[in-house]
Amino acid sequence: TSGARVPALVIGTGYGGSVAALRLAQAGVDVHMIEMGMAWDTPGPDGKIFCNTREPDHRSYWLRTRSKAPLNYFLGFPIDRDISRYTGILDAEDFSGITVYQGRGVGGGSLVNGGMAVTPKRENFGAVLPSVNAAEMYDIYYPRANAGLGVSSVDPAWFDSTACYQYARVGRKHAQRSGFPFVFVPDVYDWDYMKQEAAGTVTKSALAGEILYGNNHGKKSLQQTYIARAKATGRVAISPLHKVTSVAPAAGGGYTVVIDQLNTNGDTTATKTVTADRVFFAAGSVGTSKLLVKLKATGALPNLNDEIGKGWGDNGNVMCGRANHMWDPTGSLQSAIPCAGIDNWAAGGAFAEVAPLPTGIETYASFYLAITKNPNRAQFSWNAATGKADLNWQTSWKQPAIDMAKTIFDKINAKEGTIYRTDLFGTYKIWGDHLTYHPLGGAVLNKATDNYGRLTGHPGLYVIDGSLIPGNTSVNPFVTITALAERNIEKIIATDL
Ligand code: FAD
Repeated sequence: TSGARVPALVIGTGYGGSVAALRLAQAGVDVHMIEMGMAWDTPGPDGKIFCNTREPDHRSYWLRTRSKAPLNYFLGFPIDRDISRYTGILDAEDFSGITVYQGRGVGGGSLVNGGMAVTPKRENFGAVLPSVNAAEMYDIYYPRANAGLGVSSVDPAWFDSTACYQYARVGRKHAQRSGFPFVFVPDVYDWDYMKQEAAGTVTKSALAGEILYGNNHGKKSLQQTYIARAKATGRVAISPLHKVTSVAPAAGGGYTVVIDQLNTNGDTTATKTVTADRVFFAAGSVGTSKLLVKLKATGALPNLNDEIGKGWGDNGNVMCGRANHMWDPTGSLQSAIPCAGIDNWAAGGAFAEVAPLPTGIETYASFYLAITKNPNRAQFSWNAATGKADLNWQTSWKQPAIDMAKTIFDKINAKEGTIYRTDLFGTYKIWGDHLTYHPLGGAVLNKATDNYGRLTGHPGLYVIDGSLIPGNTSVNPFVTITALAERNIEKIIATDL
């Protein structure tokens, strides 16, 4: 309600926000979480909460009238379709030179992502978060995050026999024949549930191609883990379809937070003002960066420093497909949950997930999402003329990522006598270099904030999401975002409350 006063307000309900809410509530603090997306707790007309990847409807995209699938062509034909405008679950947010995919709703990215829950190799951690004590992270906070998220790995014996991972076994064979280390990738999916899907005894989710627009069963999103525990404390309230537009110091102390209430068409139906003693920015790398550059430039938070908006990276994401020979089919049944990767980080700067292509038909294609050591970093800045935040990423900045991915796939193609697919991202286009799933940075730890996420110049304001991480995690990011949030909130609770 407008005019209310809350001890702690959390902007966003993704990984950082959920960790903050749970730990603050457990410490006895009442928390109000504000989320621009929907609650995603009510079935639609088809009896399901989330729509299927193969049949995107209004639930699929955030305020678009046409779907914008990451892999947008097949056999040279565009696969996007018209949809009705709605506050759907996946935001394909366009900036100059890059489309940034993000989850919208209670649970943030955990609603749409593949659930791949990877802890970086310890030898790489110094480059991921240079100012953070690695021993503490690997002894305490990574284990805490993995436990809180419910992370586990596929049963290797089942992996070897199930039809739904034939594509990953083909990926393993090709990786190993070229001398690359093949690794299992842990996930938050319930592997027992997936076994039952394969046995035909439960409703299919991963095996029905559910990914990107939500999983109706099997995947433990934050709604099933951190957020469920936070709600169970009785101290956490969540307001979906509410978007924070301003945070500024309040006359009597604390901060005035301005919030737009949205309808499912994305229109503002009410504007509310609340006062919060502490505000946690957990709107994700893009959401937090956009807010902070605006609040600094417009004078709402004048003491923020010049690091705001800087150090943004795409985790080196680049996608590609390979065309296999007829004797290497990847299977018409593909689990939408990836479980395997090819590690060439040390030698070539690339870690590639063996990704599904759950079309329901045999494609003879191997598909990959590579995370690379791309050194390019972009910056958000406030554009007063348009009233929006700009990101200065350039299309050509993906070239180092492509070169690093090629250290894996050129070699595999040479060994196997195969070629790249040129029909997945356009016509005669090999690389999916127009997007990222892994935005990171924009309010970098120990630069825009102190070493625990306290924003400089405004006591009581904190950043606690992916914007703290300077652009790259060497693997999929959410375990690191969660572990860093666990570390920071523990310190904040111990010393600031
Ligand atoms: P988010 O999870 O993005 O949460 C931020 C929340 O804040 C969102 O719910 C957003 O709607 C809300 N918000 C934003 N602005 C406002 C505002 N002004 N007011 C109110 N609310 C606001 N990572 C992995 O580790 N493994 C994977 O397998 C994986 N697969 C992915 C697949 C896809 C398709 C995508 C898009 C991402 C994937 N990721 C994966 C990335 C991962 O989901 C993100 O890194 C992670 O969600 C970021 O966490 P966060 O807490 O920083 O923010």
